[in-house]
Amino acid sequence: MKKIENIKLDEYFLWQAFVTIILLALMLFLVINQEAVQFYANNFQRVTKADVQLYFFDVGQASSTLIVTPDRKSILFDTGSTDSAESLAENLKFILNKNKIKNLDALILSHSDADHVGGTMVIMQNFDVKRVFRPKQLSYIEDSSDGYQVVTTYTYASAIQSIYNEGCPVEYVNNLSTSFGNLEIEIFAPNRINYSETNSFSPFIYGQYYNKTFLLTADATAEREDELLTKLEQSGRQMKIDFLQVAHHGSKYCSSEKFLKAISPKYAFVSAGDEIHPSQEVLTRLKDVNVRKTLVTKNDGMLGVGIYKNNYIICDMHQFFDVPLAVMLLCVFMFVLWHYLEVQRENKKIVVKKFCNKKRL
Ligand SMILES: [Zn+2]
Repeated sequence: MKKIENIKLDEYFLWQAFVTIILLALMLFLVINQEAVQFYANNFQRVTKADVQLYFFDVGQASSTLIVTPDRKSILFDTGSTDSAESLAENLKFILNKNKIKNLDALILSHSDADHVGGTMVIMQNFDVKRVFRPKQLSYIEDSSDGYQVVTTYTYASAIQSIYNEGCPVEYVNNLSTSFGNLEIEIFAPNRINYSETNSFSPFIYGQYYNKTFLLTADATAEREDELLTKLEQSGRQMKIDFLQVAHHGSKYCSSEKFLKAISPKYAFVSAGDEIHPSQEVLTRLKDVNVRKTLVTKNDGMLGVGIYKNNYIICDMHQFFDVPLAVMLLCVFMFVLWHYLEVQRENKKIVVKKFCNKKRL
């Protein structure tokens, strides 16, 4: 009898140890993979299944946006700053994997500022990039014999050099009208080569999927916004924009009242990370044109937009309940409950045994 009891006791401890190890491993996994778990747990998963996807990466006071097309082509618009390059590469890899996309079909650098090209080297080294585009600005590593504006930022020069190092040619961004399945993309390149501000070289990327539209702006200035309105009118494109990337991190010098009224954005997305961006002026102007929601990467983390033929979904990393913490608490609760039930079961056995023994007596 004693022998049998010992075996039962050993089994009990073995099971307890086994379940404890599993729960601890699960908790450890959750702690290490907080971001991944959050990604799966919230609506981001639904965004990754949408026909057209837009991602505004949280890269601090910088900008990097990804477009995933219905035929699963990927277009990266800017690479953020040098500081955020590693995290950008990580998030980019995660999204491309979710979409089973193996390479970056196009990288478009909007202009030479460090907060838009800083992550280029890391992107070039970690991804198979098919084509790279940039506006007609030159860095100091090239000659200016063709008359284009010479821009001498070290980060830009390093970025361009890193593209050449990977054996990838660099093409100029020109006006372009193309389609990926039913997604029509229009690139509105800068009109001139002699803007006084570097930011004015930023091309606009306009997209239309059935009746949904989006507009990516990088650091486009008010001067360029005016040009865009004229071009949009001429092209006969839908003027109303559903998803707008607010220009120049929400700077008060762009997103003019006239521009916002003309495009009447439904949702606004701001890539910003410092204290002065987005400006209160722009937030007010957006409110005045009845934007349903303005999301900012510094407050909401990475932002995602999933566009379907008749529907859309918008997500941010921080709007949902902290799922990993909730799952961890649930694990602890389950463990305590399980332990309690086991103790109860053992107590019952003892009571029954005592009762039987008494009966025998
Ligand atoms: Zn910028």
